[in-house]
Amino acid sequence: MSLSSLDQNRIESFWQYCLQHQYFNLAYPESADFDYTPLHRFLRFSINNCGDWNESSNYLLNSFDFEREVMHFFAELFHIPFDESWGYVTNGGTEGNMFGCYLARELFPDATLYYSKDSHYSVAKIIKLLRIKSRAVDSLPSGEIDYDDLVAKIQQDQERHPIVFVNVGTTMKGAVDDIGIIQDKLAKARIPRRDYYLHADAALSGMILPFVDAPQPYSFADGIDSISVSGHKMIGSPMPCGIVLAKRSNVSRISVEIDYISAKDQTISGSRNGHTPMMLWAAIKSRPLAEWRRKVRHCLDMAQYAIDRFQAAGIQAWRCQNSITVVFPSPSEPVCNKHGLARSGGAAHLITTPHHHDSQRLDRLIDDIIQDLGTVTAPAGAAMSAA
Ligand SMILES: *Cc1c(COP(=O)(O)O)cnc(C)c1O
Repeated sequence: MSLSSLDQNRIESFWQYCLQHQYFNLAYPESADFDYTPLHRFLRFSINNCGDWNESSNYLLNSFDFEREVMHFFAELFHIPFDESWGYVTNGGTEGNMFGCYLARELFPDATLYYSKDSHYSVAKIIKLLRIKSRAVDSLPSGEIDYDDLVAKIQQDQERHPIVFVNVGTTMKGAVDDIGIIQDKLAKARIPRRDYYLHADAALSGMILPFVDAPQPYSFADGIDSISVSGHKMIGSPMPCGIVLAKRSNVSRISVEIDYISAKDQTISGSRNGHTPMMLWAAIKSRPLAEWRRKVRHCLDMAQYAIDRFQAAGIQAWRCQNSITVVFPSPSEPVCNKHGLARSGGAAHLITTPHHHDSQRLDRLIDDIIQDLGTVTAPAGAAMSAA
């Protein structure tokens, strides 16, 4: 590649910028502790996973074998027999949510989609793109969906085939909508199981709940019909990616035959990233489940550490069960800007992703917030040692 020295300098200064900011994010769920060095050399190939990994394709530079193993891993993780499932590596959580909602709409073409006011904004785009009837449901102070309001709205609408967009870890509060309660309430409203669809938006917590001792319900065994998880959040990757997994029986109705690549396609994109399935594969293969458990435990411990520090200073910080998202009253704008904090409804949050190995960065942020909110500073020496 021949670039002018001016352009080389631009790249060099962006490199320095990235080095400086690689661990900046305390307010976003992107994990930065990954190393895909063994895969770097594949960047010289145009790997393309167009279509279904379960079919052979005329496009030979595909990483379908890796993608199959990734989907095998997630089928086990989310408790569905592999041969009864189908899913693929997506561009991220939004595409996975779209795929799940698309399947639901094909199953129940005139149905209404119910989502809580704490759902991720991707749901708004999906409703527009798929032209699904929709209803926003109130949420509880915890960030969970208001179960009574959900059922009340379904009954008001006389909706016989509700599609429920279930949050498994909301963006702002890390709240998990309880699938068990939703199913009980739907049963009491005399909506049989075969007449509704549950899509789980598990962008972040899909890689947390399988690794804790007492998870809220999140899996196919618990009653979901499809699930979407982001790959660049808890797992970590240099490019956005994710997975979506659904029941094979629901997927077959959207499959189209394409003679151009002589394969079937049931994905949303045409050409698909062939590098990200390899990254997810490497991430899975390089860590046994016990290692994921340890990693998740560490993140949860760090979240609790942050809460303890806030509370010691008289700040009402809290988090949901099994969540690494710590919610606290929003500090002033300069502090939010300095630390890149996202705010919503008078609250802000920090997320203790795995690359925060010790409490250093966390402490700097917490110190600033405590000072800003004008309360007593925690005693010195409260720093948590590396886990
Ligand atoms: C991040 C997030 C998404 C969107 O995921 P992308 O990978 O950014 O497309 C969807 N839902 C929730 C709850 C999220 O936090």
